[in-house]
Amino acid sequence: MQYISDPSLVSTEYAQFGLGQEIDAYKNRRLTNDLYTRSLIGPLFYMIASGLTIGLADYFQGRFWLLVIPGFAFLFLWWQRYRHRPPIPGADHQEYDTWNRQHWCLIHLGALIWSGIATMTACIELHTNNAVIVTMITTIAFSTAASHSFAMYPQQARLCIVEFVLPSTLVYLFYAVDLRAIGVAICIYFVYLMMNLYGNAKEYRNQIQTEVMLIQSRVDLAQLSLTDALTGLPNRRSYEATWNHIWRIAARKNDVLGLLIIDLDFFKKVNDQYGHLAGDACLKHFAQILRQQIRRDSDVVARIGGEEFVAILPGINNELAYSMAENLRCVLAEMPCEIATQKIYLTASIGVGIADWRIDRIPADTFQRVDKACYQAKEQGRNVVKRA
Ligand code: GH3
Ligand code: MG
Ligand code: MG
Repeated sequence: MQYISDPSLVSTEYAQFGLGQEIDAYKNRRLTNDLYTRSLIGPLFYMIASGLTIGLADYFQGRFWLLVIPGFAFLFLWWQRYRHRPPIPGADHQEYDTWNRQHWCLIHLGALIWSGIATMTACIELHTNNAVIVTMITTIAFSTAASHSFAMYPQQARLCIVEFVLPSTLVYLFYAVDLRAIGVAICIYFVYLMMNLYGNAKEYRNQIQTEVMLIQSRVDLAQLSLTDALTGLPNRRSYEATWNHIWRIAARKNDVLGLLIIDLDFFKKVNDQYGHLAGDACLKHFAQILRQQIRRDSDVVARIGGEEFVAILPGINNELAYSMAENLRCVLAEMPCEIATQKIYLTASIGVGIADWRIDRIPADTFQRVDKACYQAKEQGRNVVKRA
């Protein structure tokens, strides 16, 4: 049995599918989109930093290619990252995993190339000068950026920071001994960065968790606004959207479409005799019977008024709809609502019909014909099924 069948009514796309599945898809989309956008800018900064380093170290003289090669390499890397767009919405887990792996390769490649430049500079220069200072400061800047931008994947971000920092720091510490102080300073900063990354990752997770909770409450709210609080059945609002939706699809395909309109008999008397609470229990009791009797996946049942219910029966012809209605009427008449020691017997008048594509122009036309049949059932003495 369907409970929400018109996606347009539910304000989010999430209620159409399993919520858990949709939330997973949301997380995948959110993480990959963040990774994509945040990774784009990196190569452009590497390009500027490498140009600056080479320029300051005066590597230009007679070695112009030294400037051109890293410049092109980073431009090419930027282009590769730009082209590597995240999977389209609706992709499965495996596609996201593959995309992530490939994109991380591009990110690590950038970190390693830059690290190579910084390390080579330290090896060539061996003492503090402008080129070494630029590579040291930009290395710190890049690793700081990694700890902020890639916090959604902390393990990969950690590896990235190590790639940035480790090779040049080893040179500062053990090879270019004049630069040892810089090496020590970077080691201290490295510890801070790791702690910072831990905090950023936690913050990112919390942010995603908040977004997921928001999605969940939006879906819950949408569900609530479509559900009758007493019986748990779809309410009138839900019914109207669903009926219009199903009716138009059936009309387009010229399919049979059955409809039952059910009105409990003398319900006012039930309230008067047994009290309003007992009346409520009777409505729940009937809703339960309705669910049990009308239970194909494509059927929709709803409470559209105080003691008025409907059943939408796609693909059910007149005869079948009539026998389903007759069955429902008999089961209700035979199954009293039991409250403590009391047994309250209920009956219903039911109008039954199918959409007639020759005369019904809009969904309300079919409804009105079946509703009229329900009134005729009342006029015929109640506890009756009447055809439209
Ligand atoms: P008929 O056989 O002609 O349909 O008579 P009826 O008494 O069922 O119809 P009527 O429309 O006169 O009264 C409907 C009653 O349903 C009146 C109202 O008190 C009762 N009702 C509507 N909603 C609820 C509800 O949520 N809980 C309870 N307990 N009663 C309700
Ligand atoms: Mg009524
Ligand atoms: Mg009634």
